[in-house]
Amino acid sequence: MSRTLDHLFDRNVAWAHAKTDADPHFFRRMAEQQTPRYLWIGCSDSRITANDVLGLEPGEVFVHRNIANVVHTSDMNILSVLEYAVEHLKVEHIIICGHYGCGGVQRALVTERGAMLDHWLQPISMLYRKHRAVFEAISEHDARLDRMCEINIEMQVRRVAQTPIVENAWARGQKLNLHGWIYAIHDGLLRDLGPHLSSVAERDALPSIDHRVLNPNEPMSALRRQALDAFSSLSLDDMASPPCCMPALDDGAAKSPRKD
Ligand SMILES: [Zn+2]
Repeated sequence: MSRTLDHLFDRNVAWAHAKTDADPHFFRRMAEQQTPRYLWIGCSDSRITANDVLGLEPGEVFVHRNIANVVHTSDMNILSVLEYAVEHLKVEHIIICGHYGCGGVQRALVTERGAMLDHWLQPISMLYRKHRAVFEAISEHDARLDRMCEINIEMQVRRVAQTPIVENAWARGQKLNLHGWIYAIHDGLLRDLGPHLSSVAERDALPSIDHRVLNPNEPMSALRRQALDAFSSLSLDDMASPPCCMPALDDGAAKSPRKD
């Protein structure tokens, strides 16, 4: 076995050559500056890399990852990333993206305590303990874990929105949008979970995370959002004469729109 990981250096050289072949100025451009529009706060899970999931090139997304995408307001690491992204890079969007089946969230649900990791996961485990009866009413283990993964994301979006860094950006009129997303490893697709926040007023109008536990958000795939957008753009005449063949959608997108 190589002690110097030569195979990774070989892969690096091959990657750099491929990049240069496709775009001779790629690395020169990268060296000059980075102007990402997005900050991604995600889980450290090795199967989820922001650039791949988003289909973005290097330089297009600023990234912070930790176990279970937890936002601790005493964590100098994430606060430094957040401050740099907001105040210097002036990203327009902060995406807090967790994933279904998260091992970190799973760890927060067990009774074993004492490792450093358990301190890190404390906000998740405390929320779970507080609402244990609600979560344990979900009989299937994977479904219970996934529900906890969703609510964790909603909680972390709220915590980002409560930082003085984000509050100050909004106070000075900086365009800054927060998003809560969840990723499914089994199909490679993102779901929009919310909340979407772009001001202190929107943040303050949010229902509490305890309310969300009792009234969960339904994740929305891109396919479903596009279908709902298409519905909302139909005229009343179109609604009276629906097309004969609506596409079959497997995630509930073909539900009739509300007319109230
Ligand atoms: Zn994870």
